[in-house]
Amino acid sequence: MTASVRILLWCAGLAIAACLVTYPLYANGYYLALGISVLYFTILSTAWAMFSGPTRYISLATVAFFGLGAYTAAVLGETMPWPVVLLAAAGVGALTAAITGLSTLRLSGIYFVIFSFGLAELIRQLVIWYEVNIHKSVGRYLFSAVTQDVLYWQLLGLTAIVFLVGWMLGRSRYGLALRAIGADETAASHSGIDATRVKLGVFILSATFMAVTGAVMAPRWTYIDPAIAFNPTISFQVVIMALLGGAGSLFGPVLGVIPLVLLFEVLTATLPNHFSIVLGVIFVFIVMVLPNGVIGLFGPSRWRVPAGGPAAAPARGSDAPLLAVDGVSKSFSGLRAVDGVSFTVTPGEIIGIIGPNGSGKTTLLNTLSGALRPSSGTIRLGGTVLNGLRAHQIARLGLARTFQLVRVMPDLTVAENVAAARLFSTSTGSGATPSELLDLVGLAKMQEAPASELTYIDQKRLELARALALQPRLVLLDEWLAGLNPSELETGIALIAKLRDRGLTIIMVEHVMDAIRALCSHCIVMNAGSVIARGTPEAVLSDPKVVAAYLGGDDA
Ligand code: ADP
Ligand code: MG
Repeated sequence: MTASVRILLWCAGLAIAACLVTYPLYANGYYLALGISVLYFTILSTAWAMFSGPTRYISLATVAFFGLGAYTAAVLGETMPWPVVLLAAAGVGALTAAITGLSTLRLSGIYFVIFSFGLAELIRQLVIWYEVNIHKSVGRYLFSAVTQDVLYWQLLGLTAIVFLVGWMLGRSRYGLALRAIGADETAASHSGIDATRVKLGVFILSATFMAVTGAVMAPRWTYIDPAIAFNPTISFQVVIMALLGGAGSLFGPVLGVIPLVLLFEVLTATLPNHFSIVLGVIFVFIVMVLPNGVIGLFGPSRWRVPAGGPAAAPARGSDAPLLAVDGVSKSFSGLRAVDGVSFTVTPGEIIGIIGPNGSGKTTLLNTLSGALRPSSGTIRLGGTVLNGLRAHQIARLGLARTFQLVRVMPDLTVAENVAAARLFSTSTGSGATPSELLDLVGLAKMQEAPASELTYIDQKRLELARALALQPRLVLLDEWLAGLNPSELETGIALIAKLRDRGLTIIMVEHVMDAIRALCSHCIVMNAGSVIARGTPEAVLSDPKVVAAYLGGDDA
């Protein structure tokens, strides 16, 4: 961009800002009211998209927070200074979001949608109950000195803040973490991202904006009752506006707000009785024709991956076990999928786990990586007991994994997938940067491609790069070589050998015996949840017990 273009853009920006700020001075009553509607829906839908855009948790609870804010203003508005009222509304919104978020953000998909809708209704009923039984009147009057002009300026200020906060969030590690969670929550957790905490934090942030908007809007009505403050149509309108504009980017929602506020104005004037039907039709239309919103037509916005943080060199040379698994069992309602497994792994070695399908190999890896809690037994990584720790905590301790059914974060780029595993890294050593890792696995040229567009083998490579990005002390590979053709297999084996030579410690579950022979110093053989043999690859593969187990299984 040349200097003159930049100056021109700045001038245009300043001119627009000046128009917006002085709008009440030249807009009359009707147009000012329209401006107020545009602003308050802009704040609500931008705040909604802040959380729901990346995570795809469709929330219909907008009006719950908005209404609580409006009620806070109605209760406190005449006795307290206005800034205190706004702060109180923010506090009520944040607290309610924290309490409800903790209990519901484990739900996903349609369950969350229904719960969020129910939440708004529940809060409305609670407020009605309180007003009727305690306050002894359903509605409240709020006489305040706030003029329409001042209301407009407050909303404009809040709009600026919501965009600023959204912009900062998008550039912070929490922005990428949230998108990683939306793309694949399990993979994100095993990459060290505390999904519950990140989701809760952004949910609270978004709800706080909604509550403050409700408080700012309250004086507009003079008389407030639950039907006005908790009108569920608002939640639906916000979703529709954000989806029309595009919930995946900061300025998407506002592109949906402007045309729809105008359309809703026309509709309430001309078709007041059919408003809901038209709303529904628009909703269906948007989902079918513009799944990524208007802004999606211009291509996705990407997180800028930083030049690359430091990576720790793996430790090597000690004989103390890096991993000690002692009597670990895991039962699924009576079925002992893993039954009293014990083994140790010393730094720098590759351990192979083999056994027929269904013998408990994946379940064992799941208990090590925190995807499952062991029913009994102890797991220690470098002396730290892993039992009871959650997946992201174990990942941050340096235990990385890949999945038997390959899991990448499909809407993130290749580079973003790797960067996601670096977000919460606490390591301060030096080592490979994300682009060096992509180079190592042979994806250097694909950095900007969405992970969903990669071939199967490239997705496997990406998973490995993401695991390495954690700067792990131990990597678990679950049939990482499965499904590769002979030449890919050769490359894959060479790659794992290279990692071993760099000192990385690996546990690999594998059916490809050539790989086991070429790579592993040690093997354990599982059958029906138990270890039936252990030793060098040559020794165990010629053990009659092992041969019998394989012949008895459905896979050889
Ligand atoms: P492997 O990886 O060796 O093929 P798995 O660990 O996937 O074996 O499975 C071991 C056994 O545990 C199988 O009988 C499987 O059906 C059962 N199993 C695995 N995961 C679950 C689960 N989440 N719930 C119930 N049973 C499971
Ligand atoms: Mg398996």
